[in-house]
Amino acid sequence: MEYIDKTNPNVKQNAHNILKKFIDEQWQNDTNRYVNLAYEYFDKVEFCELLLKEQNHYCCYCMKHILNKETTIEHIIPNKAKKESIYSDYKIYGDIESNVFLWQGNMSSKINLPPFPHILAYENLVASCNGSIPKEGNAKCCNNKRGSEKIIPVFYIANAKEEFEYDVSGIIICDKKYYDTISCLALEHQTLQLFRRCWLNLPSRYDALDVIDAGKDKELREQIVDDMDFSKISVRDRETIRTEPYWNSFMNYFWFYLYKQDKGI
Ligand SMILES: [Zn+2]
Repeated sequence: MEYIDKTNPNVKQNAHNILKKFIDEQWQNDTNRYVNLAYEYFDKVEFCELLLKEQNHYCCYCMKHILNKETTIEHIIPNKAKKESIYSDYKIYGDIESNVFLWQGNMSSKINLPPFPHILAYENLVASCNGSIPKEGNAKCCNNKRGSEKIIPVFYIANAKEEFEYDVSGIIICDKKYYDTISCLALEHQTLQLFRRCWLNLPSRYDALDVIDAGKDKELREQIVDDMDFSKISVRDRETIRTEPYWNSFMNYFWFYLYKQDKGI
């Protein structure tokens, strides 16, 4: 996992401006209240692009490389949260406490921004994948699997990269305190483990670009799979990963190739 820094002044200002513009537009002077001040009414395309750029296009949880159309915006304090106790669970993380307040939908005066309502606060929003992973039947991970469940936002911990490590079998190595978060986000889904295992055991004569090229080049794909170490990548793994839906998804997890190089695996 990667640390997400929300304190870059230029990005922060830009994000605040986009959100402030929308929030101010929802204020109705004649009735002295906000109308349609909800995440659902916010045009997300530009804001989503800003988050993706900030995260180098990686999902905040599973590290899949994602484009705008396959991105969902994750509310760390859930969009539907109404209780102060939920706000308290998250205020210690990142830059939440000084920039975000719990929106309860009943403000009768205009908000002096910042802080921003949690439903539309830059410090409460990160980019997640849409959770679609290949499997027989439906599978979900990350934001779409979580819903509003309680998690630890690991990406707001400065040494996130050390908090979550991955062993060569694709399993996450971390402290017990993260187990509920992992399970809530399905980060140990067998498909995600398979993808991590294949990246971490990619034969050294191939690089990430070869894997991406092999999405269109079946011969190259077969060659890469055949060259994988049998003691690490089983016959069943091979049968699965070489199929088109799996390979086309697998290649977007190349963050684990960079992780492999970084760790000297
Ligand atoms: Zn994800």
